[in-house]
Amino acid sequence: MAIAHVLGFPRIGAQRELKFAQEAFWAGESDETALRATGATLRERHWQTQADAGLDLVTVGDFAWYDQVLNTLALLGAIPARFGFDPQQLSLADYFTLARGSKQHFAMEMTKWFDTNYHYLVPEWSADVKFDGGVNWLFDEVSEAQALGHFTKVALIGPLTLLYLGKIKSDLSHKLDLLPKIVVGYQQLLQRLHWAGVTTVQIDEPILSLDLAAEWLAAFTPTYTALSKQAPALLLTTYFGEVCEHAALLRSLPVQGVHLDCVRGAEQVGAFTKDWPKDKILSLGVIDGRNLWRADLDGILGKLKLLHEQLDDRLWIGSSCSLLHVPVDLSNENKLDDELKSWLAFATQKLSEIVALKQALNGNFSEAEAQFIASRAAQASRRNSARIHNPLVQRRLAAVSDADGQRISNFPERISKQQAKWKLPAFPTTTIGSFPQTAEIRQTRAAYKRGEIGHLAYLEQMRDEIRFVVQKQEELGLDVFVHGEPERNDMVEYFGEQLWGYAFTANGWVQSYGSRCVKPPIIYGDVYRPEAMTVGWSQFAQSLTSKPMKGMLTGPVTMLQWSFVRDDQPRATTALQIALVLRDEVCDLEKAGIGMIQIDEPAFREGLPLKSRDWTSYLESAVRAFKISAAGVKDETQIHTHMCYSEFNDILPWIAAMDADVITIETSRSDMELLDGFGEFAYPNDIGPGVYDIHAPRIPQVDEMERLLRKARGVIPDQRLWVNPDCGLKTRGWPETYAALENMVSAAWRLREEV
Ligand code: GLN
Ligand code: ZN
Repeated sequence: MAIAHVLGFPRIGAQRELKFAQEAFWAGESDETALRATGATLRERHWQTQADAGLDLVTVGDFAWYDQVLNTLALLGAIPARFGFDPQQLSLADYFTLARGSKQHFAMEMTKWFDTNYHYLVPEWSADVKFDGGVNWLFDEVSEAQALGHFTKVALIGPLTLLYLGKIKSDLSHKLDLLPKIVVGYQQLLQRLHWAGVTTVQIDEPILSLDLAAEWLAAFTPTYTALSKQAPALLLTTYFGEVCEHAALLRSLPVQGVHLDCVRGAEQVGAFTKDWPKDKILSLGVIDGRNLWRADLDGILGKLKLLHEQLDDRLWIGSSCSLLHVPVDLSNENKLDDELKSWLAFATQKLSEIVALKQALNGNFSEAEAQFIASRAAQASRRNSARIHNPLVQRRLAAVSDADGQRISNFPERISKQQAKWKLPAFPTTTIGSFPQTAEIRQTRAAYKRGEIGHLAYLEQMRDEIRFVVQKQEELGLDVFVHGEPERNDMVEYFGEQLWGYAFTANGWVQSYGSRCVKPPIIYGDVYRPEAMTVGWSQFAQSLTSKPMKGMLTGPVTMLQWSFVRDDQPRATTALQIALVLRDEVCDLEKAGIGMIQIDEPAFREGLPLKSRDWTSYLESAVRAFKISAAGVKDETQIHTHMCYSEFNDILPWIAAMDADVITIETSRSDMELLDGFGEFAYPNDIGPGVYDIHAPRIPQVDEMERLLRKARGVIPDQRLWVNPDCGLKTRGWPETYAALENMVSAAWRLREEV
């Protein structure tokens, strides 16, 4: 009899209850008791959902008040000492101070959880960090679940992953120097869980799907040998990629079972089942925890049958990873039509898929039948639907050649034509696209969306806003203008809403960090542009000024990266479809008299696969998509791109291969150090390294920016250097924006006077 489980369930609640409870607590509108009550209600509901669906075990420990890594630190007592909190007396208010900072303390750093859009708080490691135990929250949750009568499994982040994801803060030469201490901390934790009646612990070690240095791999056997002395059975989980190369290691570890991601690593199962030890569980993550398509249950069942004969009740089936990365419940969705909904499975629906597979394996076909029928219907309808397969798009795609990605001339020739046309001064000044999105702008957009104001009224108000930002840019004396993007709620949604093949949910929220949730669009079909998307706005803006007005588009990689992407064709194919759509938009902008067009790719680097051996194929397709979107124009038309928060040095040749005429990047926070690799030979085209950080309201002084520019001049030739902030200004207010840009323009002038 196979066992059904998941690696974790979303904690935010189907109506984002956790978000609203957190925010009410932060605003002082509710107290700790009220927040705790919301947490308890959500946990109870989520366990009940899992039990009702028919899972054999419900997962405890996937709940967190802000972040699962921070919860683990609070549990171990390993919170940063700089905050001065007693780990055993940590209140929820203190916990949020760790996450969000306070007047006295800057917050813990936050970064992306592997290649997901979830952000965790980065552990801070120093030689004196302690793992002597902290809050009792997890133990309380275990008792709650037991009191409710559930069979439970506790999920923990593993000690090696926790160590690995932290950052060394002081006097520690290697993170692994902390290993003896953290192992003792986990031993005590496991001991206490055992006393609390916990028999199974899922221990997550997703670092196994990274390129792991030998010393980390070598740490697995001693660590798990030490932990296996405690009583709960350990299920060591790997996810986000295949771990084939560690098959021998994983087989030999003294744990009761191992979990594999069979969605990302579909091919790896054979390497494990060959001589899988007779006393060990193999948990197979066959239902995708990273995407929201209804699974092909027949296909999966076919692969599981033989394994089930071999493993019987040692076969566990579950989600590939925690369901944290998908929305909670499709039945709350009222914006998608029924056909589209029939193709999807959110977290709650995925539970039923897992259970159906288990039932089918265990011989209970009648119970599983409805799920199998729905799965077959979804597969068949997705194969044939005219909403998905568009012959126009496919014909076009088939005709794409590498030549479509080549500009007419090479960069030196193009830039001299562009200079002759634009006659920009040395060190031209510009901004990244958006100007402050005031409450008024947001209200107007929202009112228009709700149908409260008509199209013409909306158009006029947005045009007023564009007039205003053009006027401001004239006053400031900037050289290359933008229209300010007032009409855009979000840089992906804005385009997706105008394209065929994209769908938007009303309630498909996924936690990004803390109380912040995102609602990624769903790319379900061939992407097609029925009409121009931005030309009207750009043309209007250009009509107001004699300065060049940059057209502003979101690039193909970013459009893909921040969406749920169809799984019935390679991602690269979908990227190319989006690239073709953008190419048409770029050409339409050019035809309408827009001579500079920026194609933003802020997500370019975050799309990099976890393992470096997969980088080349990703980068090839990403660069190709960008070039195809950009290359349909004349030499005189200047293509810009923008990337933020990025480290580039390891992929610089690829960034150069994108061959944008101008790239603007984020560098100010690293004191221009990010530029180190960007010499003339490594990066031949024009560059605007951000000269100030737009993420804070602080107004940078002229001297500071002048100093940064001088530093940049040490790396980049004068005739290649642009002057701009490091990202869009939409989150800023007008007073600081105006003052900062005024100083920025002055800094550019100081340099100009010297050439
Ligand atoms: N053009 C966009 C803006 O200015 C770019 C945003 C981004 O890089 N994330 O807002
Ligand atoms: Zn940016």
